[in-house]
Amino acid sequence: MAFGWIDEQARARRRAGLVRTLRPRPADSPLLDLASNDYLGLARHPEVTEGAARAARSWGAGATGSRLVTGTTELHAELERELADFCGFEAALVLSSGYAANLAAVTALAPHGSLVVSDAGNHASLIDGCRLARGTTQVVAHADPDAVRKALATHDGDAVAVSDTVFSVDGDAAPLAELAGACREYGAGLVVDDAHGLGVLGEGGRGAAQAVGLAGADDVVVTVTLSKSLGSQGGAVLGPARVIDHLVNAARTFIFDTGLAPAAAGGALAALGLLRREPDRAARARAVAAELYARLTVMGLRAVRPDAAVVSVRAPSPEGAVRWTADCRAAGLTVGCFRPPSVPDGISRLRLTARADLSGEEIERAVRVIGETRP
Ligand code: PMP
Repeated sequence: MAFGWIDEQARARRRAGLVRTLRPRPADSPLLDLASNDYLGLARHPEVTEGAARAARSWGAGATGSRLVTGTTELHAELERELADFCGFEAALVLSSGYAANLAAVTALAPHGSLVVSDAGNHASLIDGCRLARGTTQVVAHADPDAVRKALATHDGDAVAVSDTVFSVDGDAAPLAELAGACREYGAGLVVDDAHGLGVLGEGGRGAAQAVGLAGADDVVVTVTLSKSLGSQGGAVLGPARVIDHLVNAARTFIFDTGLAPAAAGGALAALGLLRREPDRAARARAVAAELYARLTVMGLRAVRPDAAVVSVRAPSPEGAVRWTADCRAAGLTVGCFRPPSVPDGISRLRLTARADLSGEEIERAVRVIGETRP
């Protein structure tokens, strides 16, 4: 039978308690949300939704074509200028998702014969970029600049190191300055995915590279998503103009994909405008994360000290994590549940996102529910 093998896989998944299902979210959910990536609470901000609506009315519901044909509107160009300027880079290129941005950056910057050095904790989209790249990938120990150095030393030729800036599972930060130092010793490039750093780290949310003085460096390329702190959808690559020009000509997920929907571009632009006017949002998201961490740790829960807005809390087992998440939901709180195979280390966790717009009362309630429902 066609696809017969998937039934065996489905049975194995059921036996292991690892079946995933979709749960449609109503527009007016009464649940307290600590699961989304809307770090700054901008996805439903009236200025952001109005920016998206206005863009759709002016430019249409879709971009109508790939970026090199009809899919580059003046709005896309404006968003690229604004992203580059806000984050401190020479140029930016907007793609339809952060996933596509990572595939674009890694594949276009790792040609045949080159070496890609990839952190073991990298996001799936960077891993897939490595898999699609023509260069050879070497996976190295997590957040370990010496391991990167060792890998680079084995290779005679072009090389690039790739890393998340803030790792999506545990919320810990990469040692960016040290990584850049290691790359410079060997003349290698550095590509970092700032999906969880933009809007949260750096001055007023200008991102992880700006926070450590790497913004605008000629050997550093940053990818971002527009779907987390900016509350919209889409992705971008930021870097030197010559790198961005190269991507326009060589990155397949840019060239062969329809341009970003105008509404998403308009929403992201409005969000960037808000970040400029209200720079305290970034620090507030970090403070909420620190408070959640401190309170959960006092209750005896094992959490990872957050470097940005992601707070990871250890669960005793995959089943325990699923039950804990369900019990939180029954008590009015949504939290993320990470378990194998999403986490290669086999450790299951609750993943909480610290939103800048959470009130003191909401933080209190979230902590109480997590404590009361712990397995
Ligand atoms: N990188 C990281 C670290 C992420 O967490 C995500 C989102 N899950 C992405 C990239 C992908 O971004 P997008 O959702 O915009 O495709």
